[in-house]
Amino acid sequence: MISRIDLRGRRPSRRDLLAELPRAELDVEHAAAVVAPILEDVRTRGAAALRDLAERFDGVRPVHLRVPADVVASAADELDPQVRAALEETIVRVRRVHAAQRPQDFTVEVAPGAQVRQRWLPVRRVGLYVPGGLAVYPSSVVMNVVAAQEAGVTSLAVVSPPQQDRDGLPDPVVLATCALLGVDEVYAAGGAQAVAMLAYGADGSDDVDGATLCEPVDVITGPGNVYVAAAKRLVRGLVGIDSEAGPTEIAILADATADPVHVAADLVSQAEHDPLAAAVLVTTSVELAAAVETALVERVDATANRDRVLTALRGSQSAIVLVDDLDAGLDVVNAYGAEHLEIQTVDASAWADRVTSAGAIFVGPWSPVSLGDYMAGSNHVLPTGGCAHFASGLGVHSFVRAVQVIEYDADALAEVADRVVALADAEGLPAHGEAVRARF
Ligand code: NAD
Repeated sequence: MISRIDLRGRRPSRRDLLAELPRAELDVEHAAAVVAPILEDVRTRGAAALRDLAERFDGVRPVHLRVPADVVASAADELDPQVRAALEETIVRVRRVHAAQRPQDFTVEVAPGAQVRQRWLPVRRVGLYVPGGLAVYPSSVVMNVVAAQEAGVTSLAVVSPPQQDRDGLPDPVVLATCALLGVDEVYAAGGAQAVAMLAYGADGSDDVDGATLCEPVDVITGPGNVYVAAAKRLVRGLVGIDSEAGPTEIAILADATADPVHVAADLVSQAEHDPLAAAVLVTTSVELAAAVETALVERVDATANRDRVLTALRGSQSAIVLVDDLDAGLDVVNAYGAEHLEIQTVDASAWADRVTSAGAIFVGPWSPVSLGDYMAGSNHVLPTGGCAHFASGLGVHSFVRAVQVIEYDADALAEVADRVVALADAEGLPAHGEAVRARF
């Protein structure tokens, strides 16, 4: 069901750990080779390519690539009341946390008459990816849109794969969530082709909706499978991206006090996202490992997405890692840099404080990853594949840029003029110094 890696009796270096820890065989680098021609096809053929690729990958040729605004608006009227209430609660909680993330402008008086200000500006236009292949993700609409809105972005385009049973429209709850958040620019496009449309823009001259289908965006964010993550990697530089938020990962650091049924339930909950999802338990307790293995067998047999879960748990990306003590366990989880890290140990909070790499940390028995997926208030779009070592999860920071504003008066410039000239001469760039001298 799930393999074991036994690190007891040794303490590998970080480098050796990275080589031994489980990772998926199909990684973002390999997927990039698959999606490069897809990006080029959309760049050159626009809407026609988007329709052909939807037919090939989603099994349906969408009538409308841009979802008509009245279809988006009316989706909210058809929402199940319980789902609507849950979405509204999520929106409130996520908005509260993201409002607190807004960075502050500041001004520094470097010397009398010499000012440097820093202003945070929202990006002009963003493209927000909402997955919809194996499962559909209205929750990802909330995570993307609320973060962008709290950053002050005013032009938002949402993309989500066309659904076969909806005549090529995206999932109705995804559309309804867009309506609840006041977003009406929604496209029936998924995978790498959707990322290409957002990055390059798309001409839609053959489209029923008109000549320019989609204007290019400045930043693309959102989670997706390995092909979406690969496409984001390829367009990075032309546009900004949040992080590579690819197939889900859960790592759990647990000692003998953890409840094996909870641990197994949490591993299964993330394995059901994708056959490439990673589920890793790092534990000091052989008894816990054995009890989790038993609980996994029962849970997997009873769960709706059994085949997907089984493939994910049996894959090379999932394992139970046995360690001598929690310090050694901490080395493992810090080297791994999981998207989601649960701490189920005594003094869980203290161990969480010592984590140096994770997309998000879930502390103690009452904070499962599923809570963070929907309702905690935190963002569920998080870096995968070790990107947590250098990238953050989605937030207001993903949609803003810092601009420095420099304003010196004559006296303040005169005060440092000789020093500017000295440095300019030292760099062999005398015209820099002359530009200052010319003023006096
Ligand atoms: P998706 O929308 O990400 O992917 C569907 C698209 O993949 C299709 O439209 C198709 O165009 C493309 N595709 C499928 N097979 C392909 C192939 N062989 N070649 C090229 N393109 C192909 O939906 P999904 O598949 O359900 O995946 C959702 C993913 O999002 C899961 O992996 C899940 O774990 C992940 N996720 C990640 C986070 C995060 O923050 N890291 C959060 C939520 C979900």
